[in-house]
Amino acid sequence: LMANVNRADRMPMSPTPQPAQSPRAELRDLRISFPLPDMSTLEVISGISMTVAEGEFVAVVGPSGSGKSTILRALCGLLEPSGGSVLVDGKPVSGPPPGVGFMFQKDALLPWRTVAGNIRIGAELGGVPGDRREERVASLIKLLRLDGFENAWPRQLSGGMRQRVSLGRLLAYQPSLMLMDEPFGALDYQTKIAMGKELLSVWEAERRAIIFVTHDIEEAVALADRVLVFSARPARIIADYKVMLPRPRHMRSMRGDPAFT
Ligand code: ADP
Ligand code: MG
Repeated sequence: LMANVNRADRMPMSPTPQPAQSPRAELRDLRISFPLPDMSTLEVISGISMTVAEGEFVAVVGPSGSGKSTILRALCGLLEPSGGSVLVDGKPVSGPPPGVGFMFQKDALLPWRTVAGNIRIGAELGGVPGDRREERVASLIKLLRLDGFENAWPRQLSGGMRQRVSLGRLLAYQPSLMLMDEPFGALDYQTKIAMGKELLSVWEAERRAIIFVTHDIEEAVALADRVLVFSARPARIIADYKVMLPRPRHMRSMRGDPAFT
């Protein structure tokens, strides 16, 4: 299979210009302020512009409190900007935009639903037709190596497995843009690497756009094509790096790593 997943291989090869297409996500001079109890305002984001293209895997790193989560919340319509605009697929965001999925640092699984039940919720909300749902759930269970745990309850699972179920629920929703807020932050190092591989496998197979927030620069460089660095509050983008190196060996995906194929 793809024995050598190399970033250079993924550069567009065709010299013909691609047809103009809206970016998946776009922030134009975004500003966000919060009202404080003393009636003053706290400006958290002061003029951020960025675009994320179809199929791009972008990591956002920056100090704690810099506004990374705030950006994600604005992208999924949970916050009103105080200036500038937020667009998903070229359309201004007002309320949760269709096709945008969110994954948090701590899993938010429904404790009264089994593993399969939690993943099925994503398929239901994502509008997967009733007769296709079970097939989708089963294929995700297989993809995320949760076979045999379909009927387990979230509390019976390890932290890593719960995050795999969360990822399954997110994927079942079939988002075209995935917003991930430090999704592996609570996991131990080995589990984090395993999850990184899972995510890369999925991304290589299905090529959704991903905005992945982390404060771990190593994780950012290992996973993403592009790394945006935020300054401390008020956030500005102080660097926008294209990652040109092959993925480090330990982070190659299940699909790409010969040890797994
Ligand atoms: P990060 O995810 O980069 O750690 P956040 O986006 O969570 O940072 O928060 C950025 C800043 O905005 C922090 O100083 C936080 O306290 C402040 N903040 C976030 N949400 C609110 C809110 N609803 N009201 C007031 N301040 C907030
Ligand atoms: Mg945060």
